[in-house]
Amino acid sequence: MKFIIGNWKMFPASPSEAKTIFSGIKKSMRGVTHAKVIICPPSLYVAQLALLAAKTKIQIGGQNCFKEDEGAYTGETSPRALRAVGATHVILGHSERRAMGETDSDISEKMSAVIRNKLTVILCVGEKARDEHGGYFNEVSTELRSSLLAFPKNEAKRLIVAYEPIWAIGSRAKRVATPADFREMSILIRRTLTEYFGKKDAFAVPILYGGSVDDHNAEGFLKEGGADGLLIGRVSLDPEKLGMIIRSANTI
Ligand code: PEP
Repeated sequence: MKFIIGNWKMFPASPSEAKTIFSGIKKSMRGVTHAKVIICPPSLYVAQLALLAAKTKIQIGGQNCFKEDEGAYTGETSPRALRAVGATHVILGHSERRAMGETDSDISEKMSAVIRNKLTVILCVGEKARDEHGGYFNEVSTELRSSLLAFPKNEAKRLIVAYEPIWAIGSRAKRVATPADFREMSILIRRTLTEYFGKKDAFAVPILYGGSVDDHNAEGFLKEGGADGLLIGRVSLDPEKLGMIIRSANTI
């Protein structure tokens, strides 16, 4: 079973557009039995899309949440409320949030809040740049270890890790990573997870690739790269292209 996760970032600009995109994705789910699709819209649309997703195989996730369930925290998104409106997953540690000042320690606290609320964490890790000496391996394993610090050892089933090299994400990406880049890094991520959870649980944690995935390169990451799924930004707002990726994942 492959995971196809859409991160809509801060798009689209209206609930009616969100509904139209979601309906398009829903249509592409016909006959899909071997791909788990999770759409993470802006928090304003989570409740609406969770209602539309209720009788489908699509699940809905948040893109971030706060470390507390409720309180005097103006402007924050409660993990408890996310669950109450029907979300099942929450992306944490996305590089675009880390760039706004979020630290590993913030992420670790948010992870605890997500687990406490019986949601699944989609944890993003990835290096800023690649150096000749392979220092980026250390960067990613340190980031993963620090984020996991407070993660309950018996809750590995509530964790998905997305390897998203920052240099490959978004419209300013330098280049797309290769399936071989992913495979190499996923071995290190699996090893780091094994140190924390033990072999059996660590091997059940899905490791996804994210960064400029489209309908042309998706299959390479899933087949040659051995990715358990994909975290897709821009292209997840295009139901036709996302549909092609979902159908391809369904056959792998
Ligand atoms: C992302 O936002 O997580 C992402 C991978 O974006 P994109 O696919 O647009 O590079």
